Amino acid sequence: MQKVKCPYCGQTLLFARTADIEVKCQRCKKVIEIKIKEQSEPHVK
Ligand SMILES: [Zn+2]
Repeated sequence: MQKVKCPYCGQTLLFARTADIEVKCQRCKKVIEIKIKEQSEPHVK
């Protein structure tokens, strides 16, 4: 999972593995477009 922060104020917006959405920051009221592609990291267990 990836933590998504507002680029304007640093407020944590959400955690996501993949995303293609727009989120309105509750703190600074800016709309942030978030695009996260699933990362092909190796699973280490
Ligand atoms: Zn913000």
